[in-house]
Parts: sequence; C-alpha cells; structure tokens
Amino acid sequence: MKTISIAKEFTWSMAHMLANHSGKCRNIHGHTYKMQVEIERTSGTLINDPGTTNHGMILEFYDLNKIIVDAIVEPLDHAFLYWVGSTDELEHEVATLLRKHDRKVVDISYRPTTENLVLDFLEQINKNLSSYEIKVKELKLWESPTSFARVKAD
Ligand SMILES: [Zn+2]
Repeated sequence: MKTISIAKEFTWSMAHMLANHSGKCRNIHGHTYKMQVEIERTSGTLINDPGTTNHGMILEFYDLNKIIVDAIVEPLDHAFLYWVGSTDELEHEVATLLRKHDRKVVDISYRPTTENLVLDFLEQINKNLSSYEIKVKELKLWESPTSFARVKAD
C-alpha cells in the first residue's frame, strides 16, 4: 500500500543547560536546532475536493509553515529553556536573573534533552494539526548537523 506524506524543515536557536550532566553540557550553551515535520492526513488520502485551493494536497505548505512557526519556532527562538524542576540551583538563578532583565525564558517541565524536546513538540504539533485532520508521521529534531532524535507516530 502506498502512503503519501509531506515534510517541512524549520530552524531556530535556543539556550539550555543540562542539570547533572557529567560533562560540558551542564554549562549554559546554545544550539541551532533543526526540526523536520513529516505529516499525513488521518484518512491516508489527499484532499479530494475539485475546484478548491487545496485539491490534491495534504496541507498547503504555507499553512503548515504558519502553524509550526506560531506553535514552536516563534515562542522558542532565542529563548532560554528553563527546566522548572531542575536540581541545579544555578538554573533557577539564571532563569530568575534573565526574567528580571526581561529576557526570553520558556518554562518546561522536563530536562531539555533532544529526546524530551522532540516528544513534547510531537504532542504540541499534533494538537495544532488535529482540526485539519492531519497528524505527524515522523518528527526529527537535530541539535547539531550530525545529532538528531526522531519520534514516529504509533
Ligand atoms: Zn545542549
């Protein structure tokens, strides 16, 4: 059986620190993340509505771009990802100091590994796509040009 999907890639920068990391990742540092979002229609077919703008599509790329930029890229770009449950006191002090100076801080409830991030993004993106009868087939998140985490739909 054939399956059809489309994908789009996004990049943005953000900072984090990994509490309890035994190496240099315990320091505040940043990555230029790249994310590839591959989507399919829940029906598995293309839109079949002759005479409409989306006939023969899964989703207009313009719409996919806007949904992902609004949900993920814009809120996170150039932010410090703050793990509110961190066991590293410095992480709380950093977040407090940045906030005091009106810098961009985003609260998260998990240790900001690439694996945890991609799982969180999968949930958020699926939530934003459900009204379009679209779901994520596969999501990849690179934290460097040679390192990525991937999550696939059930
Ligand atoms: Zn890192």
